[in-house]
Amino acid sequence: MLPAILGGTPIRSNPLPYAKQYIDDNDCRAVSEVLKSDFLTTGPMAKKFEEVIADYVGAKYAVAFANGTAALHGACFAAGIQPGDEVITTPITFAASSNCVLYLGGTPVFADINKDNFNINIDDIAKKITKKTKAIIPVDYTGQAVDIDALKNLVKGTEIVIIEDSAHALGTKYKEKRVGGLVDMTEFSFHPVKTITTGEGGIITTNNKEYYTKLTNFRSHFITRDVNQLENKDGGGWYYEQLDLGFNYRITDFQCALGISQMKKLDWFISRRKEIVNIYNEAFTNLDGVILQKNEGFSDTVNHLYVLKLDLPKLKADRKEIFQALIAENIGVHVHYIPVYWHPYYQKLGYEKGLCPNAEDLYNCMLSVPLFPAMSNDDIRDVINGFYKIISYYRK
Ligand SMILES: *Cc1c(COP(=O)(O)O)cnc(C)c1O
Repeated sequence: MLPAILGGTPIRSNPLPYAKQYIDDNDCRAVSEVLKSDFLTTGPMAKKFEEVIADYVGAKYAVAFANGTAALHGACFAAGIQPGDEVITTPITFAASSNCVLYLGGTPVFADINKDNFNINIDDIAKKITKKTKAIIPVDYTGQAVDIDALKNLVKGTEIVIIEDSAHALGTKYKEKRVGGLVDMTEFSFHPVKTITTGEGGIITTNNKEYYTKLTNFRSHFITRDVNQLENKDGGGWYYEQLDLGFNYRITDFQCALGISQMKKLDWFISRRKEIVNIYNEAFTNLDGVILQKNEGFSDTVNHLYVLKLDLPKLKADRKEIFQALIAENIGVHVHYIPVYWHPYYQKLGYEKGLCPNAEDLYNCMLSVPLFPAMSNDDIRDVINGFYKIISYYRK
């Protein structure tokens, strides 16, 4: 079959996106009820949403933020990151995972990934730990949990804080337990492409009360009315104090109402994602020219992304040509992610290309395949047919 990019007929007539939110009438009702109530900004719905998420992931506390990036900024603040401190993370992630370190004047240090599961490599983290290392931000990339026990062993006896970036991994279990309560702090994102959405939104879950208080204050200019925290205990009914430098990172109550409503569909979101991933795995295992991401036994993964590696030596085209050919078939592939330190801003900070060879190799041959719960069985079939068509055409 002639690829559409060369003048053939595309596999489908309308573009299929790589990800899309799922919003139903219950979500709309939940939001509009709050719009007619007394609270628009962070109020009772935010509190309830935090309880729902904390309860779901098995953490004592949760603090909701305006977005996942703000939540990571808060977590880095609570961990005490300051100029001179180093924080280790992966280059195969959204820039937020390391930008949050830069916001506080800290230095992101990139550890390489594993070739087979694409998550951060724990041995490489070990090599990059120095006296200045203050925290590690591992990312549950595509939704697959990092090896949390191995990480905890690595930092045992040190003061190094683990902030898990689980933006992709709501619902994922590590050794039977959901991620969210297993390390010092865990971040989730509710951007529309993520497992549930609040439009924009994010949250930190933790079992540590001190972090909880800091995160809550940080979200709102570090202004408090809590008498236990005030320096002047006798200020009067109007009185409040700003105790440190915080931000306005509040999330609205109508967004949190959306989040609560979305949580009611989470079981279905998860089972549908898993169903699609199983169909893909079966179809792509037999497609010569692509390589699947390994899933480790300790991770019961809820995939946010489905990432394939192109087996480039077997193909006559590079990733860019394959990508464009699939887009021409109306299959909305994407690439997650450009190694963070390749971006011009990071290059100007002095990070050099070649730093993490496995990450760079993966970047050169990876594609994200459309994955979202509202995909129909026809959509799934189109994706598989599109890949078979293009990979077969370009196979040597
Ligand atoms: C989505 C995402 C975030 C947070 O992003 P926001 O858009 O700010 O919610 C953080 N880390 C990773 C890996 C992400 O994919």
